Amino acid sequence: MIRTLLDAFTARFGPGDAPRLFFAPGRVNLIGEHTDYNGGHVFPCALSLGTWCAARRRSDSTVRLATGNIPRSGVLRHPLGYRARRGSRCWSRYPESVINAFRHAGFQIPTGMDLYYYGNIPSGSGLSSSASMEVVTGAVLRELYGLRVSSVRLAQLGQYAENVYVGVQCGIMDQFASAMGRRAHAIYLDTASLRYEYAPLRLPDSSIVVCNSRVKHSLASSEYNLRRSQCETALAALRTVRDIPALCALTPEEFEALSERIPDPLCRKRARHAVRENARTQQALEALRADRLADFGRLMNESHVSLRDDYEVSCPELDLLTRLAWDTEGVVGSRMTGGGFGGCTVSIVKTEALADFQEKLARVYRERTGLEAEFYTVEAGDGVRRLI
Ligand code: ADP
Ligand code: MG
Repeated sequence: MIRTLLDAFTARFGPGDAPRLFFAPGRVNLIGEHTDYNGGHVFPCALSLGTWCAARRRSDSTVRLATGNIPRSGVLRHPLGYRARRGSRCWSRYPESVINAFRHAGFQIPTGMDLYYYGNIPSGSGLSSSASMEVVTGAVLRELYGLRVSSVRLAQLGQYAENVYVGVQCGIMDQFASAMGRRAHAIYLDTASLRYEYAPLRLPDSSIVVCNSRVKHSLASSEYNLRRSQCETALAALRTVRDIPALCALTPEEFEALSERIPDPLCRKRARHAVRENARTQQALEALRADRLADFGRLMNESHVSLRDDYEVSCPELDLLTRLAWDTEGVVGSRMTGGGFGGCTVSIVKTEALADFQEKLARVYRERTGLEAEFYTVEAGDGVRRLI
């Protein structure tokens, strides 16, 4: 793999100084969905899938970029500080946004560079290829220019890049998991304070399986913005009677006692999801610490039901995949993961049941939808790192 990447770098950019090689993982969120912008907890793990970047400094101020993932995409040449026009769909806006975010934060990037990317995360599936690309770019800049940047800061700069320059209002989870992941652990992260702890993912006879539905419904981003504003409306209503920083500051019991104060029933349902999901995420941490995997699985299932019924961000394809999983022997738990309206499900499956699980879901999903689901058995991996 390393050889192939270095050869591809040289084929694109020609001879010169040997590049350094970096890797940043994608992530899957095990539980805690749509809690990040409500001041709650998320519980992702970094993956062994991710994005590599081979990089070297140049002596001029040109940034050359290439990717092994887009056929015939060639080599892009832009001046340092280049900003794609609004609405551009070009892949290079992710890494260039990170360069701009570093410069905006006051870091000195005195020269241009050659950057070659390659990733093995299915793009657009919700496993955060974009965050892994941002974080790997941050690690490149840190190393090439000797910048003093913590890995948490790398995550924040990646999020800033995606929010401000790419224009996607994501939370911090994806970049945080990519920067801070730890092998065989999940990260219990308070998205408001960035306090976090690692929880051992002891899965001696089970595996984490990500199933890509291969659908992405076009309403994803408009519905996402609508959910955010519904939660804000609910929070504003609750604040007339209680001083809380965010919805997830409430326990489910406190929420039930106050929920009548939210006049709109839809906003009430959205808020109920956020509050209960946050409580489930905390219970999931306790379950994992105590090796109660069955409880962890049950919480995953409850999370899906809440996302489907209260938050209404699932879709028929994701509901079908989870229902099939729940009805399969040896499945510990299964839920949609990511923002919703398509993308992936995540399941914990007993190793002996893996083959049957995959065969059955693939077959029935094909029969009912005409689509080919994709399966990835993933492992919790380390966060961003330099390889050579
Ligand atoms: P996700 O982050 O869920 O995978 P996004 O739509 O946020 O989906 O990001 C996917 C986009 O990121 C791709 O369309 C592409 O522009 C960019 N991208 C990610 N990885 C690579 C790569 N290895 N090479 C080029 N572009 C990439
Ligand atoms: Mg993304």
